[in-house]
Amino acid sequence: MKKIQAIRGMNDLLPADTAIWQYMEACVKRALAGFGYSEIRFPIMEQTDLFKRSIGEVTDIVEKEMYTFEDRNGESVTLRPEGTASCVRACEEHGLLYNQTQRLWYMGPMFRYERPQKGRYRQFHQVGIETFGLEGPDIDAELLLLGYHLFRQLGLDHCVSLQINSLGSDAARAAFREALVKYLSAHEAQLDEDSKRRLHTNPLRILDSKSPDTQALLDGGPSLADYLDESSHEHFTRLTQLLDAAGVPYSVNPRLVRGLDYYSRTAFEWVTDRLGAQSAVCAGGRYDNLVAQLGGRPTPAVGFAIGLERLVLLVQSEGRLPEGLDASVDVYLAAVGDVQAEALKLAASLREQLPQLRLGMHCGGGSFKSQLKKADKSGAQVALILGEDEAAEGKVAVKYLREDRPQQSLNQNDVAQLLTSVASGAQQEAK
Ligand code: ATP
Ligand code: MG
Repeated sequence: MKKIQAIRGMNDLLPADTAIWQYMEACVKRALAGFGYSEIRFPIMEQTDLFKRSIGEVTDIVEKEMYTFEDRNGESVTLRPEGTASCVRACEEHGLLYNQTQRLWYMGPMFRYERPQKGRYRQFHQVGIETFGLEGPDIDAELLLLGYHLFRQLGLDHCVSLQINSLGSDAARAAFREALVKYLSAHEAQLDEDSKRRLHTNPLRILDSKSPDTQALLDGGPSLADYLDESSHEHFTRLTQLLDAAGVPYSVNPRLVRGLDYYSRTAFEWVTDRLGAQSAVCAGGRYDNLVAQLGGRPTPAVGFAIGLERLVLLVQSEGRLPEGLDASVDVYLAAVGDVQAEALKLAASLREQLPQLRLGMHCGGGSFKSQLKKADKSGAQVALILGEDEAAEGKVAVKYLREDRPQQSLNQNDVAQLLTSVASGAQQEAK
């Protein structure tokens, strides 16, 4: 019989992977807590219209990447391809946006039907950060500072760089779009196939075409920067001043546009050259019109999302990983002979006294030697050895597995005291 396999582009994460994921998620959460952001959770499925209305009908995501199907009631539902639309929907539904500001984050799976390759999957994970009710460039700067802080924490600031741009007001963008279409239409034959199609559907996206010929053609065309309205221009200038003052490195990329329709004014991406074509690790911007577009009161908003698979790939190849990340326990309790009951009792007492301690107990019997081998493989710092003699005397032997220290014999009551210092490096880092 043919074995059933996972769906293409949807990955299993095995224990060796989850150790890195947990470490990275802990770093992300710690950074977010450090900036005073609160978590919000919403379902992974929504009514299809939510994404159509927000992301835009003629975007890659809505045109060809969504997992959309009818539920048993005939209603069209979609597995979320991103989080912003759901976040706005949830905030509106629960009245979080009226007369207040919000700084929120969420983390979880997103779904896009794409061609799977390194750093690009059909189920992938994002941490999304969204702020509402704040209009000035100071919050844009705060978000970029948060991203920068996180990349530094993960030891990645040397291999990612921040690009920013302003998309201006709707009117400014519309005027620019018109000029761009006029210019490109006169040179349509020189455009790559994708851009030809976009010329009539979503011309701004041509700006980030990967084709060198198209890029060369754009050099002679109109520039978005020249069409910016006065107030967007001021907003953007102030943002760059704040970034300069905060020491956040960036470059202005006048061709940076985003693939989703709802952005206006500030747009940004953190890119890397270490992941092939999957260069964007983190992307976002301002979307002051989205809340109103989805039926709420006009509410300024700005946010971004980090692709966690890409972040993990970068952390693995370029970042700083703490020692001992793959150890599942700090202490391994070997139970040699007929001492299972005593071992379980000792383990229970130690776990109760030291809730932070990761203690693995040997199960399945076996010789002293084979148990010690398992202890070594577990990554534990210390093995506790309980043999029949020790059990009879209320003692336990302590063997240091990673240090050159003599074995000790201790009263079982004194072990907890000794083990307080044995917390794994990985755990310390993650806290
Ligand atoms: P790309 O240009 O690489 O397709 P995007 O502009 O579609 O990216 P966004 O919608 O801005 O991506 O999503 C934010 C981040 O989520 C991206 O910067 C990337 O790190 C990550 N991401 C997007 N799509 C995928 C995917 N299919 N697999 C893994 N990560 C993804
Ligand atoms: Mg994409």
